[in-house]
Amino acid sequence: VREIAIIGAGPAGSTAALSALREGAAVRISERSRFPRHKVCGEFLTPESRQTLEGLGVWSDVLAARPAMMTRLTLAFGNSARTQMLPEPAYGVSRYAFDHLLLQAAIALGAQLVRESATHPQAPAILAMGRPAAAEPGSRESRLFGFKAHFGGPVSDAVELYFFRGCYVGVNPVEDDITNVCGLGPRRILAQYDFDIDEFVRSHEPLAERLAPLTRRFDWLHTGPLFFRNRLSHDGTPGIFPAGDALSFVDPFTGSGQWNAVLTGMLAGRFAARGQPVADYLAACRDVLRLPLFSATMVRRVLPTAAAGPLSRVIPAALLYRLTRPRSFG
Ligand SMILES: Cc1cc2nc3c(=O)[nH]c(=O)nc-3n(C[C@H](O)[C@H](O)[C@H](O)COP(=O)(O)OP(=O)(O)OC[C@H]3O[C@@H](n4cnc5c(N)ncnc54)[C@H](O)[C@@H]3O)c2cc1C
Repeated sequence: VREIAIIGAGPAGSTAALSALREGAAVRISERSRFPRHKVCGEFLTPESRQTLEGLGVWSDVLAARPAMMTRLTLAFGNSARTQMLPEPAYGVSRYAFDHLLLQAAIALGAQLVRESATHPQAPAILAMGRPAAAEPGSRESRLFGFKAHFGGPVSDAVELYFFRGCYVGVNPVEDDITNVCGLGPRRILAQYDFDIDEFVRSHEPLAERLAPLTRRFDWLHTGPLFFRNRLSHDGTPGIFPAGDALSFVDPFTGSGQWNAVLTGMLAGRFAARGQPVADYLAACRDVLRLPLFSATMVRRVLPTAAAGPLSRVIPAALLYRLTRPRSFG
């Protein structure tokens, strides 16, 4: 039996484990955090994820978490907002529930979980530890930081994205009538509020109004700095398969990071368990992710500019949405 080491039990690591186990491999997962745990994420799960999660036998577990359904998308640039129907309903499920249920499913199928911070695994191994922390060039002030908190109060069936001053904040429902509020912005803006996110969100009137009837349920979580890597990264070591954010990290406004992680995790588990070359795995990932990586790069270039608002009125949200999705993988 082939033995596979997996580092990280986020969506990429757990789906890699599920797919490798289904191929008959033995799996050992190293995870440094205790689950369940909250995580900075918009918690918007694309409708296409369903097919992949069904294939891995865990969609019924996702449904059991009673995800919120979203049917509408609101894009708000400055003070003007536009709402459209989503091409398909999307799901809102907290990372507290989602990551936990995926890991539990992998354990139930035979994965061994070790709570440790792992570094240099022996091949075959899957690196699913999320975004690398390494600093990249660029001014300190322009570095992006993410934040998130859950709120109680009236819930909507829309995913709402507020873009202002080079920042954006997403507001959308998850399970149990909870509203997730998650965003990111450059240090130079957030530092004006001493990283006090309550003050920061209240500084933008449309967002202040939107959040007024809601009550925050826990302290803001922070993460960063965030570096987008819209290309697949790999150090070339044979038998080492990077998946999820460890492979590429697209701008979160696309809401497809979790699906990227689930898809590449599923592929990594399959290729590693079958003893197939890493180069073939990367070619399969490139095929699936080429369009969303390219589109996310283009949109990210436009977002901070004055053209973003006018463009959003002429480009149908459905098109933007489709361009930033990975290609379905059968
Ligand atoms: C602000 C923001 C908003 C986002 N919004 C959305 C959204 O709405 N929808 C969406 O689909 N995506 C969103 N994303 C992206 C999404 O969160 C990621 O793409 C997704 O978490 C990637 O999953 P992963 O399994 O690759 O990595 P992660 O979820 O980061 O999991 C990595 C795991 O590895 C563990 N780990 C790390 N290092 C080690 C180590 N050395 N040893 C052991 N364990 C280790 C960590 O504890 C963690 O549990 C957002 C991201 C950000 C920053």
